[in-house]
Amino acid sequence: MMQEIQLRISLKDEEKNDILLLKAAQYLNIPKQDITGVKVLRKSIDARKPKIIFNYKVAVYIKEPLPKTSEYDFHYQDVSKAKAIHIIGFGPAGMYAALRCIELGYKPIVLERGKNVKDRRRDLKAINQDHFVNEDSNYCFGEGGAGTYSDGKLYTRSLKRGDVRRIFENLVYHGANEQILADAHPHIGTNKLPKIIQNIRENIIKYGGEVHFETRVVDFSIKNNKIEALQLKNGDEVITDRVILATGHSARDIFYLLNKKHIAIDSKSFAMGVRVEHPQHIIDSIQYHCSGERHELLPPAAYSLVQQVNDRGVYSFCMCPGGFIVPAATANGEVVVNGMSPSKRNNKFANSGIVVEINADNDLRKYEKFGALKGLEFQKELERLAFTAGGRSQAAPAQRLTDFVEGNLSATLNETSYQPGLQSAPLHSLLPKLIGSRLRKGFESFGQKMKGYYTEEANVIGVESRTSSPVSIPRTDTLEHTQIKNLYPCGEGGGYAGGIVSAAMDGERCAEAAIVGL
Ligand code: FAD
Repeated sequence: MMQEIQLRISLKDEEKNDILLLKAAQYLNIPKQDITGVKVLRKSIDARKPKIIFNYKVAVYIKEPLPKTSEYDFHYQDVSKAKAIHIIGFGPAGMYAALRCIELGYKPIVLERGKNVKDRRRDLKAINQDHFVNEDSNYCFGEGGAGTYSDGKLYTRSLKRGDVRRIFENLVYHGANEQILADAHPHIGTNKLPKIIQNIRENIIKYGGEVHFETRVVDFSIKNNKIEALQLKNGDEVITDRVILATGHSARDIFYLLNKKHIAIDSKSFAMGVRVEHPQHIIDSIQYHCSGERHELLPPAAYSLVQQVNDRGVYSFCMCPGGFIVPAATANGEVVVNGMSPSKRNNKFANSGIVVEINADNDLRKYEKFGALKGLEFQKELERLAFTAGGRSQAAPAQRLTDFVEGNLSATLNETSYQPGLQSAPLHSLLPKLIGSRLRKGFESFGQKMKGYYTEEANVIGVESRTSSPVSIPRTDTLEHTQIKNLYPCGEGGGYAGGIVSAAMDGERCAEAAIVGL
């Protein structure tokens, strides 16, 4: 038989061999010899008190063999001769839309402006070393979208646990470690993601789908409120019956194109701010209540902070323990920062976005003339400001945390993981007041919540501006655009996702909707 139980293991016990088996036998009051295996279903760490506890949910197999590693069957089938669905963009939303099309018996044809994961790497090097941003191939654009060279944290606020599980199992099917199915805070890591994404592409092609890189869609031909053809940058035209638009929140040219063609788009509330970088040991010592090195069984510590300041939320976003800050601009002339970490999270810095909610109705009055694009124009202005303040390269403007809050220019900065380098700049006075003054108050309150967080050993680095889309593309209950019947706005760019998992889930939903009546 199999029985599911919860176990609480202390840090001292966690070190012992076979501790789960011993504790399970004790809990169930049976001889340990009767237990044939213990499978971890969920694992989390409770570090709220100095006595750190590992919480486990385990399946205990009693006098019955442990099942073999799970086989996940996604019913992929040959779709090489099936009806086609065009998917623009090969980020998490586009990838999962393509996989779902294959399961449903339709042929996905993916058009992606960027390069495959391998070739994309060279363009990332050029951003970091030569300060040159290829507008089709960067940290946001290319195979796997913004999800490839991302942190690969798989958290989502979605309550649809069954759908979330499907997304995770599909990642495992394509090579991710099974541990993501058990961890309370699953994380893949930027070093592992490219291979998984390459496996997804190879699987799509194996079952008869198509993936075209360096293929940017620049226009649509529309007749009777339907897209008839897609125009590509190289001048080619692609006739189509169904289009899933999964171009992400950084594809500004797509938002401009829709606006120019009077295809409805809306402005949307979003968030912007800075990234803060601490030495990891400071965050470890606060979170694990230790003065020296953290215990070797403990992962680099994370944090999550939120504070209301003058009616707006100030909160930590995409916190990366043991990570790097990366240049996430999609064009030259702008500086954008974001964060990621390798699977081992073994870098010596902890970074996190600290952002302020921007309310599209109340905070952007000065930008009303841009209509639905007002948030996007505000975002662009801030990124250009960061470019100028950073010295007109990919170097980013920065300040020590204490100087930022107290309003002083930093004479020197701390060491950083941000490869293009930092330039001391008075971010406290450069950032618009609605962001800058709230951030300063927010940091003060974070320092009270986490003693030691407010320190001159941390840098504040600008600007964290691509947390979510400032534009949404409206769709009906059938997921079609409100005007264009065969267009399915999808993922983060449509305003329907905020991260890898929710984008993937929306990709699946759009595929299911797009096949109706085809
Ligand atoms: P995208 O991933 O943005 O993909 C859109 C794709 O469309 C791109 O590949 C782009 O090249 C392509 N495209 C755009 N325009 C065109 C066009 N005209 N023609 C053809 N193709 C086009 N999320 C998490 O959940 N966890 C994390 O840990 C995490 N870390 C991140 C770290 C970094 C550095 C970054 C940049 C992002 C991170 N994110 C993270 C956010 C996450 O990557 C996005 O939420 C997610 O990728 C959105 O998926 P998407 O498919 O909707 O769009």
